[in-house]
Amino acid sequence: MTLLKIATIGHPLLRERSREVSLPELGSAEVQTLIDDLIETMRDANGAGIAAPQCYRLLRICVIEVKGNPRYPHLPDIPLLVLVNPVITPLSPETFNNYEGCLSVPNLRGLVARHTHVKLAYTDRAGQPIEREVRGLAACILQHECDHLDGTLFVDRVKDPRSLTTLADYERFHRGAFLDSLRVLLNAEVSR
Ligand code: ZN
Repeated sequence: MTLLKIATIGHPLLRERSREVSLPELGSAEVQTLIDDLIETMRDANGAGIAAPQCYRLLRICVIEVKGNPRYPHLPDIPLLVLVNPVITPLSPETFNNYEGCLSVPNLRGLVARHTHVKLAYTDRAGQPIEREVRGLAACILQHECDHLDGTLFVDRVKDPRSLTTLADYERFHRGAFLDSLRVLLNAEVSR
């Protein structure tokens, strides 16, 4: 496996639409190796997810995993998900203001409204079509990763630019209030 280079904001590739992956292509050694490399790169960079275009490959593939993440110590664990050609449909107008960061936008966080209940349709890495409902923080992370496949970065969706903060100032001034609102979301998720 190989650690991939991560493109940062300003690189034109991050603004392009990635293309669908065909089934024969998904079965190829090249794409299976790319998936392994994306997983390794995400884990190495302590990301909660990474999308192929962030690693200079314009294919509709992203991976998500949260496991005791030091960049996001407040996040509950989310088991590894490999999404090929994912499609997200909101199932409720309800949103959550998520303080997001991105491996392609170094040292910046900002508040983005994300749907908290979505339908996720995708193909897994073995080529099986899967449909499931996703709620809470995992739904928010999904929307962030899938945005990358359409050339959208979280900064495009920040409604109030005054919420933008460096990581150090997020921890100093914003983390407390955000963790309070996150607790409300996570409790709502657990009580469902
Ligand atoms: Zn990102």
